[in-house]
Amino acid sequence: MAEASARRESVVTIDGPAGSGKSTVAKTLAVRLGFDYLDTGAMYRAVALSAGRHNLLEDPAGLAAHLETLSLEIAGGVVTLGGEDVTGLLRDPDVTRGSSIVAAVPAVRAFLVQAQRRAAVGRDIICEGRDQGTVVFPRAVCKFFLTAHPRERARRRLDDMVRQGKAPLALDDLERQIAERDERDATRKDGPMVPAPDARVVDTTSMTLEQVSDHLAGLILSSLREAGR
Ligand code: C5P
Repeated sequence: MAEASARRESVVTIDGPAGSGKSTVAKTLAVRLGFDYLDTGAMYRAVALSAGRHNLLEDPAGLAAHLETLSLEIAGGVVTLGGEDVTGLLRDPDVTRGSSIVAAVPAVRAFLVQAQRRAAVGRDIICEGRDQGTVVFPRAVCKFFLTAHPRERARRRLDDMVRQGKAPLALDDLERQIAERDERDATRKDGPMVPAPDARVVDTTSMTLEQVSDHLAGLILSSLREAGR
């Protein structure tokens, strides 16, 4: 029993911009390797939803105080706020836009970084986001940073919208929205979206999901072997 509780978790981090393929790949790899999966973007989205509801999107100090009362849970792909299942609301365009605004507030980042570390304790887990390899899990066993050409990333978002039966936006508008979010994510002072120095950077522009997943799975397995896990 003592051995089991002393066992270290294996964290794999996948960071990168919107549309780089990280969510789909992270979910696929988690199933394939028997790891848990943490979508940290969903946590920022949930904070944005709550901030929007309380009119705090432009009020960092008010938002910091609001976090004290926020009961945010994420489990098995379901996100709850104060017990309310908000999963279906998190892809709303206003929430998407708000997510990169709240993500620039240091108090929000500190709050979610702690929650993400707690979520990983004692688990083999794939954590996906922007700062997982740089800030949250600097000692992760294996780190990736996925990229793709902006046009291809917009195309993937459009495909997602069509698949989900949402009214599609023009490709140019999607590309502009993604570029706006990338800019905010990459230039904020706290936890900016940058590859960790020891992350493997993978350009997925011309790769299929299967190719990315095969490539990453091979690298993860060899990192785990090297780490004796
Ligand atoms: O990954 P997703 O598109 O759902 O993330 C939504 C937003 O949340 C990002 O644009 C980014 O501003 C923020 N985010 C972050 N750090 C993370 C995950 C997401 O700043 N680890």
